[in-house]
Amino acid sequence: MRLIENWFSERYSDNLQLSFRVKDQLLSVKTDYQRIDLFDTYDFGKLLSIDGTVQLTEKDEYVYHEMITMVPHYFNSRPSNVLIIGGGDGGAARRLLDLGTDKITNVEIDGNVVEIAKKYFPDISSSFKDSRVKLIVGDGIKYIKETENKFDRIIIDSTDPVGPAEGLFSRDFYEDIKAHLTDDGIVVTQSGSPYYQPAALAMAHKGMSEVFKSVKTYCAFIPTYPSGLWSFTMASSGEMKLRDEKAKSGKYFNSDILTGSFYLPEFVKNILK
Ligand code: SAM
Repeated sequence: MRLIENWFSERYSDNLQLSFRVKDQLLSVKTDYQRIDLFDTYDFGKLLSIDGTVQLTEKDEYVYHEMITMVPHYFNSRPSNVLIIGGGDGGAARRLLDLGTDKITNVEIDGNVVEIAKKYFPDISSSFKDSRVKLIVGDGIKYIKETENKFDRIIIDSTDPVGPAEGLFSRDFYEDIKAHLTDDGIVVTQSGSPYYQPAALAMAHKGMSEVFKSVKTYCAFIPTYPSGLWSFTMASSGEMKLRDEKAKSGKYFNSDILTGSFYLPEFVKNILK
């Protein structure tokens, strides 16, 4: 990734980009799967980008990681055995540990993401040192086809639906996921920016609706992601009902967000039709 006068820019369209002024470029590496860049930015601390798109920053990672783990946590039976697909930075696993999850399997395709996170994001990746977390470096699509395990939650913490993550948004993949969920288990995926990537959200929602009985989309405000408004979509073979349990607060998540994030703007509802 080439910096122009110390600015890193993520392109949203031919006519719009978000730029971060950068103190230093810490790393730029092309792996077998993707290009990974790491910058030290003025406003957001360290920033990890994959193929030119922001994956996480030190300053606002909590929103994404709380929302992908804590929202599905409070529905249906209390989860104890959770699978994460992607998530090589360790941030989702860290939040699951905070929620008291007994067993976490994290399948990340690119071992370089894990090594970079261990070196440059030691707090976020501290989850990998915990004995409850089993890290597997491999393709999540292959893993879910071959495993004999069933999980209470499956969290798809992936890159956008291009390159190695393309299949993680497909109907076939959701069929395999369904076969590896416990009876009232829940799958959740990040489903992109409703404003800039409506096709990704439509694809995740449609794919899940063809396979699961109930599907719910919710949104969160993530300052460093395209347009700030981000979507997540979760699904289950039966109903998804909130448990009678007081929700813990995070830095973004709280009991109001647990119900309120499902109230969607009209243009988002239209994408789901
Ligand atoms: N939590 C951050 C976010 O907000 O998007 C970061 C996401 S995490 C870095 C996305 C990870 O998904 C990447 O490390 C990528 O290597 C991984 N990934 C993409 N396709 C995959 C696949 N088929 N199986 C497992 N991991 C995959």
